[in-house]
Order: sequence, then C-alpha cells, then structure tokens
Amino acid sequence: MKVIIEEDKCCGAGQCVLAAPAVFDQRDDDGVVILLDPEPPAAEHARVRDAITLCPAAVITVQD
Ligand code: SF4
Repeated sequence: MKVIIEEDKCCGAGQCVLAAPAVFDQRDDDGVVILLDPEPPAAEHARVRDAITLCPAAVITVQD
C-alpha cells in the first residue's frame, strides 16, 4: 500500500490522525496533514482505510 495525500486541499480536521496516528500527523502551526509513513505495513492498512473514509476533504488516496 502506498499512501498519497493532496496536502493543498487538507482542511486540518485531524480525523486521519485519530484514525491512524502511526501514519498521519499534523503540522503544529496550521494543522495540515503530515504523512509519517507513505508505505505503511499491513497492520496499518485498515486504519488508513478508516482515515480515507473519515477525511472530510477527501485528500487521502492509496495505491495497492
Ligand atoms: S482528515 Fe483529511 S482534511 Fe483532516 S487533517 Fe487529515 S488529511 Fe487533512
């Protein structure tokens, strides 16, 4: 799994960080998403998919 984010469309809602804190973080100053792990291990895949569902700006996509 390869995670791709469109940083410029992120609204800083932080749902991705709550869903998958090992994969996503947020910048301290404006809350924009930081991709910590662009190729997360299998154990994280379900959490990444939860983050995709929860992200209100739909900026997270994956390639399998
Ligand atoms: S849930 Fe989406 S909009 Fe919110 S911080 Fe994460 S990537 Fe950005």
